[in-house]
Amino acid sequence: MGQQRTPSALDALDRLKEGNHRFVSGVRSLDALLAPMRRTEFVAGQKPFAVILGCSDSRVPVEIVFDQGVGDLFVIRVAGNIVAPSQIGSVEFAAEQFGTRLVVVLGHTRCGAVEATLEELRRPAENRSQNLRSIVDRIRPGVESLLTTDLARDADALGRQAVRANVRVSANHLRHGSEMLEELIRKDGLLVVGAEYSLETGIVDFFDGFPARNK
Ligand SMILES: [Zn+2]
Repeated sequence: MGQQRTPSALDALDRLKEGNHRFVSGVRSLDALLAPMRRTEFVAGQKPFAVILGCSDSRVPVEIVFDQGVGDLFVIRVAGNIVAPSQIGSVEFAAEQFGTRLVVVLGHTRCGAVEATLEELRRPAENRSQNLRSIVDRIRPGVESLLTTDLARDADALGRQAVRANVRVSANHLRHGSEMLEELIRKDGLLVVGAEYSLETGIVDFFDGFPARNK
């Protein structure tokens, strides 16, 4: 398999930031606009420059908020941007097959999955489906301790901190939940960062695992 050239993690991060800046400013790049017409260029292969693990929430369409086109992003979406084995496997696949070196866990403000978990911690529901519970169970450990702090008295602040805590847990899980990814981080420039998309402003804040020189 010929490894295609993909940008470094930091270059990829710059591209995402520039794309989000365009989105917030209400402009679109020509590449993104012409993407439907370039479809056939990607029949033979792809080299996505970033992997994004985002939430399924309809208000956070990944390619749109980063102003990207066809073939640019390898996107995994699941409610609450949780990390289960299939998500790790998807990241491994992209890192190995395409040489993609940037992985972003993208949470967002007012995440329903995080809010449902907080609600569950306050008032456990008995009739929740097991499948739904499997999502809540993955978010719970990262946010549980917040309920024992002062935040418990401030629902808004609690929600905001819980979203970020959940992103950190997912990012850490990706960094340490796979020997292959650990190895790529240590030796081959793979970077896993955590970010939060604001429904209110449209801005993506990269707040976790961000290399010092860029902030
Ligand atoms: Zn969400």
